[in-house]
Amino acid sequence: MVRFTEIITSMLLFLLLFLQETSIQGLEESAARTLDQESGEVHEVHCSRERSRAAWNIIEEYLMPFVERERYQFSSKCRLHPDNDLFRDQEQHKIHVDISEWRCGYCKKKFRAEKFLDQHFDNRHYNLLNVSHSKCLADLCGALHCDFMLKSKSSRSKCNPAAVARNRHLCESLANSCFAINQGPSASRLHELFLRQFCDAHICSGKRKLFPKGGKKKSSIFYLSISILSLMLLPLFYLIVYLYQREIRRGAQELRRIPQAARKTKPS
Ligand SMILES: [Zn+2]
Repeated sequence: MVRFTEIITSMLLFLLLFLQETSIQGLEESAARTLDQESGEVHEVHCSRERSRAAWNIIEEYLMPFVERERYQFSSKCRLHPDNDLFRDQEQHKIHVDISEWRCGYCKKKFRAEKFLDQHFDNRHYNLLNVSHSKCLADLCGALHCDFMLKSKSSRSKCNPAAVARNRHLCESLANSCFAINQGPSASRLHELFLRQFCDAHICSGKRKLFPKGGKKKSSIFYLSISILSLMLLPLFYLIVYLYQREIRRGAQELRRIPQAARKTKPS
């Protein structure tokens, strides 16, 4: 009986210790969370990471192929220059291992999704953001048609002439500051291209076409795989046709043979 009570008390003691441990842990976690929230509030950056990324993707896809072809160098005054993207350094320190693994390039910590890595950057590596200058790439979103990239509802909503005029003005000022016509033939060619590619679509009336000059050819791998697949399927197709025709021929021969056999077996 004494043995039994000993066991019971030790079990209760263990349970008590366990509960205490978890409650302390919980408290620590919540404290850490509030600290994180506090640090998030203190280091709040008034620039959208998502929209900055959309703007960067648009530049990469619809402008850089032409800039690279002309071997043109942006001046640091141009707001499209990589140095003028607040998040560029952090974005370059994202390691996409596979579909469900992202890694921080600064401290090598692993994450299940990109958004958690974004949060980690905001909480742990905010000191790496150079917030002293006005370097928000998302501010150019109006000119660069980020809503199209983000597929947001506002891109389909009713056209606002004032907003369109403002975006067009921003777009043209970008063309002037990044590709000054007096800087030579490649600058003036890119100036013209920038107007056609980005600024012409800032209209309310008529049919607007975004990025008419096209973008980076992403589909090359797609076309390559399609052609390899069709090359593999072509012999199979001919084999099926051959077998089908052989069957038909055999069928016709059988039909020819049946009347002959019937004539032979018929009693006279
Ligand atoms: Zn990190």
